[in-house]
Amino acid sequence: MQKIMALAKRRGFIFQSSEIYGGYQGFWDYGPVGVELKKNIKNEWWKTMVYGREDVVGIDASIVMNPVVWEKSGHLTAFTDPLVECKECHKRFRADHDDLLKAHSKEHNNKTEWTEAKTFNLMTEVLLGTTEPKEKSYLRGEITQGVFVNFKNVIDSTRVKIPFGIAQIGKAFRNEVTPGNFTFRSKEFEQMELEYFVKPDEKDSEKTYEKLKEIRMDWYKSLSMNPKKLHFADHAHDKRAHYAKYATDIEYEAPFGWSEMEGIHHRGDYDLSNHGLKYRDGVTNEEYTPWVIETSGGVDRATLFFLIDSYTEDGNRVYLKLNPKIAPYKVAVFPLLGNKPELTAKAREVYQELKKSMVVTWDDRGNIGKRYFAQDEIGTPWCVTVDFDTEKDNSVTVRDRDTGKQDRIAIDKLQEYFQNRLR
Ligand code: ATP
Repeated sequence: MQKIMALAKRRGFIFQSSEIYGGYQGFWDYGPVGVELKKNIKNEWWKTMVYGREDVVGIDASIVMNPVVWEKSGHLTAFTDPLVECKECHKRFRADHDDLLKAHSKEHNNKTEWTEAKTFNLMTEVLLGTTEPKEKSYLRGEITQGVFVNFKNVIDSTRVKIPFGIAQIGKAFRNEVTPGNFTFRSKEFEQMELEYFVKPDEKDSEKTYEKLKEIRMDWYKSLSMNPKKLHFADHAHDKRAHYAKYATDIEYEAPFGWSEMEGIHHRGDYDLSNHGLKYRDGVTNEEYTPWVIETSGGVDRATLFFLIDSYTEDGNRVYLKLNPKIAPYKVAVFPLLGNKPELTAKAREVYQELKKSMVVTWDDRGNIGKRYFAQDEIGTPWCVTVDFDTEKDNSVTVRDRDTGKQDRIAIDKLQEYFQNRLR
């Protein structure tokens, strides 16, 4: 983890929020390279979960909603974690995080006395309006509710019919008791979710649940995450969230242990019933409350686990073996030497041309070895070098990140070369 965190900062993936003022616990900023990685992950998710399907549409709901939403959803009473306090130093921890409790106990020679566990609500309050007392609302604790409150709007404005899904990506906020493990548990984070509405039927809904589990697991594997580090962990009955009929997590084996990356939940009719929403079948006129199967992934957790998973040390070479689809830059273009105007001019031409169809970066600092080193650390799959032969053969050297192998490719074949490899 230390190596990943150092690399993330050094190369511009992730910085501490407000770092110049000492940071702010539970908040993180994505740098120039990190923002690209995160954006690519979200785009790949949207491609699979929305564009790749005929039965899913997207929305983008507001972060702050009418506080009644949170009353009805059960979050104001049930969105809680058990909290205990160390009687000596008054530090607070989640009562169900045994590892953290043990670690803290050691600080007091294993003699820590804890208070009784209290329920602690995770919703973040915001105060709005111009008159005192200001009106209290909340930053959404999950993006899900924005979908349910738009259920009728989506049906009325589109041609969706049950079964169908509504997808959304956006920020959520939780006043976590113990944020930590880098971005894994933050107070502000992004979620990517599908709420899939089905007819209330035990067998059929279970089939959908199983299918969605498979689709989500395959997605991580299709983006080259190591299958040996992925598994499902079913929730025991007493560990389920307040809304879940049954639930499983896709977990990743992080350096800090198997950890939840995405939850797949059968929410039954819990939410639509709470909001008093029903569905009327346009053909049979039958009216019922649909059931919901949800896939809820964390964008930041996926980003962190893709970083961890792709981190590779090979002798003294370090590189991120990111799938080219999510790599921040697809290609880096260099002139062999930075101080030869004729090389630079030609390299700029190649760079501008490639830029039309993919995200490309430029580097003409230092020597070529240093540039390879830098691109490896941010996971750029291919480096293109314009050298003295380019003038003669109209070709460039393309170096592969994973193998280090170099190919000589004609400039007019470059687009095709990369597009074939990005499919
Ligand atoms: P945990 O048990 O780790 O607190 P959860 O079960 O409460 O997570 P869900 O409510 O199911 O999480 O949220 C769905 C997804 O949102 C999680 O799988 C995770 O990827 C992401 N997520 C939830 N809380 C956080 C957080 N504090 N920081 C970053 N991502 C989060």
